[in-house]
Amino acid sequence: MQSKINLLGLPLEQLKLKFLEIGLCALDAKRVFPWIHVKSARSFDVMSDLPQKIRKILGEKCSIDRPERVVLQKSLDGTQKALLKFEDCNHIETVLIPEENRNTICISSQIGCAIGCKFCYTGTQNFIRNLSSSEIMSQIFFWKDSLEGSITNIVFMGMGEPLLNYENLSNALELLLNNKAHNFSKNKITVSTSGIIGESFNDFAKFGVKLAISLHASSDEKRSLMMPINKKYDIETILKAAKKYLKNSNTDYITFEYLLLKNINDSSIDAQNLAKILHKIPCKVNLILFNKWPGSIFQESSMEKANKFSHILLSRGIRTIIRKSRGNDILAACGQLKSYA
Ligand code: SF4
Repeated sequence: MQSKINLLGLPLEQLKLKFLEIGLCALDAKRVFPWIHVKSARSFDVMSDLPQKIRKILGEKCSIDRPERVVLQKSLDGTQKALLKFEDCNHIETVLIPEENRNTICISSQIGCAIGCKFCYTGTQNFIRNLSSSEIMSQIFFWKDSLEGSITNIVFMGMGEPLLNYENLSNALELLLNNKAHNFSKNKITVSTSGIIGESFNDFAKFGVKLAISLHASSDEKRSLMMPINKKYDIETILKAAKKYLKNSNTDYITFEYLLLKNINDSSIDAQNLAKILHKIPCKVNLILFNKWPGSIFQESSMEKANKFSHILLSRGIRTIIRKSRGNDILAACGQLKSYA
């Protein structure tokens, strides 16, 4: 049996084309679109302004199904992590981080990851495939359906490298930013990259969303040890691309993620070097304390070291925060996601 077309990830123009392919018209697509994205309909039957005949065709050929929730874990700090299963039986993890005034969700873009950063649990899992735009969007619908409040912030920091799945990422961003769909403001969405600044990176600037770059070191020698991708896109190339992004996307600053690893990249000299290379770039540095996972070889830096590191950056005029780790007890924190043993 041929599987149904999942419509959750199709921007309006693509939805119209899909409708034409299955014998419906563009106007039908225009009517269905807000049902999916504004009213979060979970069945075509509730789309009361559509003739019964059209609802029947949609029910036969298309779906707006969410993925199956296999496990939902809750951390002591309120963070939730869900293991979701897609139609082909592949799994991913996605995370909700509730805070007093906001609900941030962390979205995965690939099943596994080919980048293989040494500090990341996902990096130990083989790359299987890209998520479709519907599978990316289905994570947003999943949390939307289960939350009492609303989603306020979205970070593409889950499993996988979003910029290596650019076409599907851009469909999702288009839907999230569209004021006739999810209507998120650009500065409520952050895309995190290990520094994939190939061809699609130039196009990506058009969305104007916040960009976070995983830097983690101030020299190529150290960065290459932690992130093999540095051999392809080294620090100088990344920083040049970051400046270009600021200009083309009209954003105010870039976030640089810096994971503090004990005795690897957490010395005062590392901090001074980092301040030197970021000196002329409008940016913010997020210092992250390492979150352990089964089999990890790194140790976390002490809070004392983190404070000292932060102080050096701040004293050189670089906005810096030490990011609070959330969901560590259920392996939901930064770098801890994995969907296969
Ligand atoms: S940090 Fe991101 S890019 Fe690196 S291995 Fe993990 S998921 Fe992939």
